[in-house]
Amino acid sequence: MDSLPTVLLKPGEADRIVAGHPWIYRGAILRLTQPADDGALVQVKDHRQRFLGVGFYNSKSKINVRVLSAERADIDEPFFEERIRAALAVRQRHLPDATSFRVVNAESDFLSGLIVDKYEDVLVVQISSLGMDQRKPMIVGALQKIFSPRAIFERSDVASRKFEGLAEVNGILAGEPGAAGARTAISASSVAGGNADKAVRAPSVTVKLNGLQFETDLSTGHKTGLYLDQQVNYRRVAELAKGARMLDCFSFLGGFGLHAARAGAVHVHMIDQSAEAIAAATRNAAANGLSDRCSFETANVFDFLKAQTQTGPNEKLVPKFDLIVLDPPSFTRNRASVPDALRGYKEIHLRALKLLKPGGTLATFCCSHHVDAGLFQDTVLSAAFDTRKVLRRIATYTQSPDHPVIPMIPETEYLKGFAFELVR
Ligand code: SAH
Repeated sequence: MDSLPTVLLKPGEADRIVAGHPWIYRGAILRLTQPADDGALVQVKDHRQRFLGVGFYNSKSKINVRVLSAERADIDEPFFEERIRAALAVRQRHLPDATSFRVVNAESDFLSGLIVDKYEDVLVVQISSLGMDQRKPMIVGALQKIFSPRAIFERSDVASRKFEGLAEVNGILAGEPGAAGARTAISASSVAGGNADKAVRAPSVTVKLNGLQFETDLSTGHKTGLYLDQQVNYRRVAELAKGARMLDCFSFLGGFGLHAARAGAVHVHMIDQSAEAIAAATRNAAANGLSDRCSFETANVFDFLKAQTQTGPNEKLVPKFDLIVLDPPSFTRNRASVPDALRGYKEIHLRALKLLKPGGTLATFCCSHHVDAGLFQDTVLSAAFDTRKVLRRIATYTQSPDHPVIPMIPETEYLKGFAFELVR
């Protein structure tokens, strides 16, 4: 272990690593004691040569080292097996009834660069660092041992891979390509950047969330398939839905809308700009026997809300909904885009509040790490002020516990939400 290349940190740079943050930026490094290959394991020491941990080195990335362990660990298959079992135990403790969930959430589970999602008996892996990429066989081996899945797919089609010098890849890593009630057959042309023998399209699987079925396309779905991070919030928002006429904006596969329909909403209107998402939501409603209470629309939410809130001269807007859900994609890519994003958030809140009946509820979410809960609430309140509405906050939401928040690693916290009742 002592023969590992050593990365020495500048004075003052050790605290964050001691606190548990795994990222070491280029600027924090004093020097390397010997050259290290990209992707290789290195040891990290402070400027007084005190050992801090081991991690993967990559000179190409702005994050030069991703620390994996504060101990002198060998990074082999048993290491991955132990870490993944520890992550699984967290899910079994906090989501005991879930059959589909995020098994490994990268930094949240002290495995920077690795995401593993479980969709019933199929696993989807997403790798975004070179060190992890080089150890894919160990990771796959550990996953097979723990889960004996029907198949393991790779969805490493994230743009951030280029910062690590990696191309995007999709494909099958292990098991049956047609696993888990596949609706989609093998297609050799659908994979960019993968090896030809891996050019297999992941099937669509029927995923169960809180006892509802969601047909999910694992090759082209958002994230690695669907939004597992809202699993708990679907239940909690549905508790507010009994007897409601509901509007589900940015509905995707119908997560919020279908949970609400099952919980006794009188009617749910779901809107998404993606025609495929709306088609899938329509099929999901039918599969769960909820079609009679649901309607669907392929539309831009901004345009829809604008049209709904436009009034003619002397015409008074009649609010229609008892419950409105706003769960947009992140409007920010970086800090610089925050002001534009806030304008977008404010606009949809302004219009949604106008469509809400007095006493009705707005459940609203923001998944941008760059907009924290305080700023997000301020934006909603500013919309309330402009429309002369007064809100009562009745719930706060965060990401489901399979996306653990490690406060020492602020980047692990991104999803926040509120439910507000319209007082007047
Ligand atoms: N509520 C969903 C997740 C929403 S993700 C769930 O729980 O699964 C964001 C969704 O917004 C995506 O499905 C995307 O297609 C859709 N979308 C993005 N911009 C949009 C817009 N301007 N109008 C309508 N839908 C939009």
